[in-house]
Amino acid sequence: MIDILLASVALAAAFALGVVLTWRWRRAARGGAAHHAAFLQSPHGMLLVDAQTLCITDANPALVRSVGIPFAELRGSRISDIFGASDGTECDALTAQLRESPARLLVETVQRCRSGRRLYVEISGHRLEIAHRSFFALSTRDVTLRRKVQAQQLERQQYLDHLAHHDQLTGLPNRLYLAAHLPKAIEEARRVGGTLAVLFLDLDRFKDINDSRGHDTGDKLLQEVARRIAAAVHARDMVVRMGGDEFIVVLRSVTSPEQITETAARLADVLNAPVVIDGRPLVATASIGVSVYPRDGQSMGELLRQSDTAMYQAKDHGRNTFQQFSRGMERRLKERVAIENGLRRALAEQHLELHYQPIVAIGTRKVVALEALLRWRGPHGFIRPSRFIGVAEQTGLIVPVGEFVVQQALADLGRWRAQGATLVPVALNVSAVQLQRGNFTGMLARQLRRADIGAELVQIELTESALFEPHGRRADPAQDAIVQLRELGTRIVIDDFGTGYSSLSYLKRWRVDALKIDRSFIRDLTLDAGDLAIVEAIIAMARHLNIELIAEGVESWPQLERLRELGCDRAQGFLLARPVPAGQCRRFLDGAPLELHADEEPFPELRDGTGGG
Ligand code: C2E
Ligand code: MG
Ligand code: MG
Repeated sequence: MIDILLASVALAAAFALGVVLTWRWRRAARGGAAHHAAFLQSPHGMLLVDAQTLCITDANPALVRSVGIPFAELRGSRISDIFGASDGTECDALTAQLRESPARLLVETVQRCRSGRRLYVEISGHRLEIAHRSFFALSTRDVTLRRKVQAQQLERQQYLDHLAHHDQLTGLPNRLYLAAHLPKAIEEARRVGGTLAVLFLDLDRFKDINDSRGHDTGDKLLQEVARRIAAAVHARDMVVRMGGDEFIVVLRSVTSPEQITETAARLADVLNAPVVIDGRPLVATASIGVSVYPRDGQSMGELLRQSDTAMYQAKDHGRNTFQQFSRGMERRLKERVAIENGLRRALAEQHLELHYQPIVAIGTRKVVALEALLRWRGPHGFIRPSRFIGVAEQTGLIVPVGEFVVQQALADLGRWRAQGATLVPVALNVSAVQLQRGNFTGMLARQLRRADIGAELVQIELTESALFEPHGRRADPAQDAIVQLRELGTRIVIDDFGTGYSSLSYLKRWRVDALKIDRSFIRDLTLDAGDLAIVEAIIAMARHLNIELIAEGVESWPQLERLRELGCDRAQGFLLARPVPAGQCRRFLDGAPLELHADEEPFPELRDGTGGG
């Protein structure tokens, strides 16, 4: 607005100048001292230029002063001698305009002064005819200061833009930058029919590093990771820190699928090299998910979502790997979301319940414990835990689900006690995530107090992964929880023994009370010499360490007989009893030996994975 105003004032001034100069020309005839004075005393440089030759025919003192060249020398010189860059480029605009012989003109250019100083000037003016000759009456205005301010404003704006679009810690472009530039890159790929890849990198266990070695170390690690990622890709590619330990690499103009796999492998490689921070080495591996335009999606949102999905898949595949997005992944993700939402509803609407399966002393056939097995009552029958426990663990829903299990099991114990039953401990399945997140032991202790039930009536079944994480890393929060569980007085049982790490050291270290030999070893016990040897070894070891043994999944008389011969204490399986609702458990709780029938069939509906409980 101000510019427009200034320009019109300048034009008006030039117009006035034209009038003044015309009058000056006619001064000889009519005189015009006042107008002449206006020309002479104007603070703006004014000049008259021959439209034919573009040479200066007249100039006022302000211009003479400003350029520092005497009038005598100025008169007759070309305007390009004074205006425009010395290389002639900027003059071209002014000269070109004058050559077109416009009625009016407005141009910004450089004025070169004799002193060597260069001013930015705005030149306005118009064409006029005097005695059949054409001239331009021009007025100049010094806009150097305005230019400077504008340049400063621009610089400041660029600085602020940079700040807004870059991450402070690593100096990499940020999420905002990506939002501004990825759509353009996609558009460009669309225009030329090219391919583009989005790599989503997420550091593995960064939270652990942050928690154990402090945020300062975490920050330094992120800086180094950012530097390595940026150095491992082409300058034309985009590297963005999305926040936290998440980075995006956009590969433009991908020419072959190998280019993507090679880049992903190179990124994994550079990250695999240890980073030494404050004299101590650290390894920050990453899980990488890849989506490709146009194969996987057309928009930024789609491509980011899919690379994120693929990244989670890479995490599921044991981290430090990369995965390309596929439609199957999307389907599984949708299923997962459906299960998560369904489970949330089931929890709120009380569609979860516990069934119980007896654990029996092989020698006496007496029920020595009941294992609580979770059931989700769906619209088409029971949904098996194998379908939803994994999702519950991934989403953290396992914490409220686990709380429900504890509460329900204690309520059932309380009811059986009120009915005068011979109580046996209830075995609860607890996953590593439950021990790591939330305060499981605190919750259990609170519920025990509220239900007025002793801790010895609860035993906790943990899989080996709760005690040890892959790669021999200790799962510290879970291990603290195990110590607390021991202090509370519950028994600790290792579930599915033999499928994990089967380390003798932790059996001793945690003073484990019992082992459950995994079903997979029991199944072919009477047929497979290898399975038999493993079971024998487990039994010998457990005896030696004075640990109780339970055989899982006993389905046949020969299996039970063989286990008895081998000296296994306890058994659980369809042969003895299948899991039943709490209301049908009274018969297990009268203290009498379990009645077994030689012709009792195992329950095939559970084996084919359709029905439940
Ligand atoms: P698990 O703790 O090893 O439980 C034993 C599983 O074997 C149960 O499957 C049981 O129904 C099944 N089973 C028992 N006897 C036999 C048999 O003779 N033959 C065959 N083929 N199967 C038998 P279910 O109920 O489907 O549970 C599967 C797994 O889900 C459990 O394995 C446990 O790891 C987990 N789970 C169950 N309830 C809970 C829970 O409340 N919390 C957590 N975190 N996990 C649970
Ligand atoms: Mg179990
Ligand atoms: Mg088991």
